[in-house]
Amino acid sequence: MSLSTPLPNYIGGRFVAAAGDASAAVVNPATGSELSRIPLSGAEEVSLAVASASDAFRAWRETPPTDRIQPLFRLKALLERDFEELARSVTLEAGKTLAEARGEVRRAIENVEVACGIPSLMQGRVLEDIARGIDEFMIRQPLGVVAVIAPFNFPAMIPFWFLPYALACGNAVVVKPSDKTPLTVHRVIALLEEAGFPPGVVQVVHGGRDAVEALLDHPDVAAVSFVGSSPVARAVYRRAAAKGKRVQCQGGAKNPVVVLPDADMTAAAATVAESAFGCAGQRCLAASLAVTVGGAGDAFAEAVAAEAAGRVVGSGLDESVEMGPVIRDESRRRIEGLIAQAVEIEDARPVVDGRGLSVAGHEDGYFVGPTVLDRLPAEGEIARTEIFGPVLGLIRVETVEHALAFVNSGEYGNMACIFTNDGPSARRFRRDALTGNIGVNVGVAAPMAFFPFSGWRGSFFGDLHAQGAHAVEFYTQTKVVVERWPRDASRRF
Ligand code: NAD
Repeated sequence: MSLSTPLPNYIGGRFVAAAGDASAAVVNPATGSELSRIPLSGAEEVSLAVASASDAFRAWRETPPTDRIQPLFRLKALLERDFEELARSVTLEAGKTLAEARGEVRRAIENVEVACGIPSLMQGRVLEDIARGIDEFMIRQPLGVVAVIAPFNFPAMIPFWFLPYALACGNAVVVKPSDKTPLTVHRVIALLEEAGFPPGVVQVVHGGRDAVEALLDHPDVAAVSFVGSSPVARAVYRRAAAKGKRVQCQGGAKNPVVVLPDADMTAAAATVAESAFGCAGQRCLAASLAVTVGGAGDAFAEAVAAEAAGRVVGSGLDESVEMGPVIRDESRRRIEGLIAQAVEIEDARPVVDGRGLSVAGHEDGYFVGPTVLDRLPAEGEIARTEIFGPVLGLIRVETVEHALAFVNSGEYGNMACIFTNDGPSARRFRRDALTGNIGVNVGVAAPMAFFPFSGWRGSFFGDLHAQGAHAVEFYTQTKVVVERWPRDASRRF
C-alpha cells in the first residue's frame, strides 16, 4: 500500500476505506518520517461500524461463554507467536525502546489470559429460599456495543485493558485507536481473524475527535472506555454520561514519589530514574516529582542526576538504547518550553538539562534528554502540570506530614510511591495517600491484569476501572430474577 493511501477501517470483518478524504500522518518519532496515514473518520464510518457491531452482537451473546473464550485462547497463542513483530511495531510508532515495547505486549497478553477465565469471572449469585418456595438469582448479561478509545502511549496494551473482557462478556466492540499510534491495532486485526472471532464482533475505526464524538453520541453504543489526557477524559465522560451511557475515563497524572532519609538512596535513585525516564516519561505512571524528606535531599539529587545523565538516548530499535524520543515535535517543543518556564520563572535548577538534544543519525527525531530540575517550588505551576516527558522535578520538604500533604494537594490521583525502610511510615502512606495506585519501594506501581487500574481524583472519571474484575463488572449488567414455582399437587414426584 502506498504511503499516501490511508489505512482502511475494519468494519463487519472487512477492510473498508473511509468515505471522506481527510487523513493524518502516522510518524516514526525517532526519524520524523511518515510510516502510514489514517483516515479521519466521522459519523458516517462510526454509524457503519456500530450497525455492524449491533448485528454481530446478537449471535455473539448467544454464544456460550465457554465457546467465546476459545478464540481468546487462540489469540493468546498468536500474540505469543508474533510477539517480536508486535513489539517492533510499538517501537516504530511510539518510539519507546524494544525492551519497553516487549513489556507492553506482555501486559496486553496478560489481559487476554485473565479474560479467558470469564466462565468463572462472569458468574452471578443465587440464594435459594429467600422466602418459602422462592429463589433469587443475580445474573450478568452483556451490554451490547461498547467503544474503546485509546491514547498514543501504549498502542498495544491499552486497547487490551478492555477488548478481551468486553468480548469475553459477550459484547461487540468498536475500537478507536490513537490517531498517533494506530498501527499495532491494525496489525492485531489479522490475529483476531486468525483466532476465529466472528466478523463484526470487533470493528476498528480510525480518526480523532470527530470519530470519538460520533461514538459518544451514537444511541446504540452502550458503554465507553476511554484513556487519555484529563481535559479530554472529562469532556468524554460528560458527553457520554449525558447520553445515558456507562462510562469509564482514565485521565492524566502527575505522580509524586516520596523519599525518606532512611531509604537506600542508590536503589531509590535507580528505581525513580527508571520510572521518570522510562518510555521517555510518556507513561501515566511515570514518576514526575520526587519529594525528598529532611536530609534525603542532597544525596538523592546527586544519585538521581547521575542516573539521568548516564542514560543512552536514541532510536528504540537499537537494543543498546535506554530511552527513545517523545511522540511528536510539538510535544518536544512543549516539554522544552515547560523546562524553560521552571528554570527561568520558577528558579528551579536544571542539574541535568535535556533540552536541545540531537541524536547522531537521527537528527530529525523528536528527542529530549532526561532532565532533573532540583528545588522545583512545590507551589509553582510546573509542580502541578503534567509534562508527559522525561522530566523529574525535585521538591524538598521537612517532614513526612508535609510530603503527604503535598501528595494529596494536586489535581491528579493516579499514583504515589514511597521509598523507605520504615514499615509504619509506609503503612501510613499507603492508607492516607489519595491516589488509586501506591508503590512502596516500587517506582511504577502498575497493577497486574487481574487487579483494577485504580486512578483517583482528576486522573479518573467514572467508578469501575480497567482490567480484571472491574472490567467484567463494567461490561456486564446485572439482572435479578425472583422465581417461584407454585406446587402442583397432581404432579408430585
Ligand atoms: P489525548 O487525550 O490527546 O487522546 C486520547 C484519545 O482521545 C485519542 O484516541 C485521541 O484521538 C482522542 N481525542 C483527542 N482529542 C480529543 C477531543 N478533543 N475529543 C475527543 N477525543 C479526542 O491523549 P494522548 O496524548 O493520546 O495520551 C496521553 C495522555 O493519556 C496523558 O495525559 C496520559 O497521562 C494519559 N494516559 C492515562 C492513562 C491512565 O491509565 N490514567 C494511561 C495512559 C495514558
